[in-house]
Amino acid sequence: MTQHSVSRATFDEVMVPNYNPATMLPVRGEGSRIWDQDGREYIDFAGGIAVNALGHRHPALVEALKSQADKIWHLSNVFTNEPVLELAQKLTERTFADKVFFCNSGAEANEAAFKLARKYAHDHHGAGKHEIIAFTQAFHGRTLFTVSVGGQAKYREGFEPVPAGISHVPYNDIEALRAAISDRTCAVVMEPVQGEGGVVPADPDFARAVRELCDAHQALLIFDEVQTGVGRTGSLYAYEELGVTPDILTTAKALGGGFPIGAMLTRTEIAKSLNIGSHGTTYGGNPLGCAVAKAVLDIVDDPELLAGVKRKQQLFVELLEDINARHHCFREIRSAGLLIGAELNENWQGQSAKFLGAARERGLMLLVAGPNVLRMTPSLIIPDEDIRAGMALLEDAITSVLEVEKAG
Ligand SMILES: *Cc1c(COP(=O)(O)O)cnc(C)c1O
Repeated sequence: MTQHSVSRATFDEVMVPNYNPATMLPVRGEGSRIWDQDGREYIDFAGGIAVNALGHRHPALVEALKSQADKIWHLSNVFTNEPVLELAQKLTERTFADKVFFCNSGAEANEAAFKLARKYAHDHHGAGKHEIIAFTQAFHGRTLFTVSVGGQAKYREGFEPVPAGISHVPYNDIEALRAAISDRTCAVVMEPVQGEGGVVPADPDFARAVRELCDAHQALLIFDEVQTGVGRTGSLYAYEELGVTPDILTTAKALGGGFPIGAMLTRTEIAKSLNIGSHGTTYGGNPLGCAVAKAVLDIVDDPELLAGVKRKQQLFVELLEDINARHHCFREIRSAGLLIGAELNENWQGQSAKFLGAARERGLMLLVAGPNVLRMTPSLIIPDEDIRAGMALLEDAITSVLEVEKAG
């Protein structure tokens, strides 16, 4: 093994301990393959947590970044620029939205959405209409406002006091929302598929009823599509297939294909409430990120690529069901395009991390969604042979975990 100037041990010396990264240290990627410092190869079913939608080092993205890097990197919002306008044109042409606000992450996109919902209600109905309703197990980011709206208490604990006027009801439970919503509600926020919360799709009837309740109470409907957006579920945005149009949509993760960018989309009438000076961020809409995101959308917004997502979803599910037929480890396999969750059965509750580690030892990068769900969010163009090869490694990993358990 060669000596490297930095390693996983360096992390513990110089980094804040809020993450616990793997011991191997990736240095290079190509498509759905990654290599670590020691030259070991991995198949990537994690995709940077639904970010690397076109895999690693996609030539069109490399070209977009390099060619913009040779022109201009940064201007600030004292000026506008060509890539940001082209990207905004593309997003507004291809969605319900007329206007876009750019930022650098999913949390920032949601922060903008929640601030806009309050400002819009304030402008039109007065200060009393400020309450936000979200769903338990929801994930909306890690700023103070977004952990407060998010439905997992563990992300708020110790950071109190949190902003007021936020409540949570169970997902896919329309009666709970009906009981909670009122004319003081300014917005309801939901993920079309709860990602971090365990890969749980919204029931289409539920989503339609949420829309109706929002309309009845003049509350805005916000869709957090940070994880589901940009082709992940097999349509450009998941709302298209749900048949429910939100008032505000947030997108990030795959939008930059690995370059940090986020965006909030809305209609003209609502956008007016973010008037001059009301909100902003230094890097929002910077030329580098926007040039890359435009290249991502040009590739992903293609019926053939999106049909491929559905086809690959079927292959993933089929192979997971085969594994389950042999090892009986999953209670349920859920998926929306290439957002895939395999929930462990009663014997393996709380142990998803064990499977993750065993997979990594065998050269497969996986994700979890909480303690009970193995999650996969691979490249939307992962080759079928990589899917099959990765699944063989996964079966191997599962076998080893089950055997250790039997022996113990
Ligand atoms: C990842 C995620 C976020 C947060 O995005 P960041 O870029 O990490 O701030 C918000 N909402 C959902 C649904 C996500 O999956």
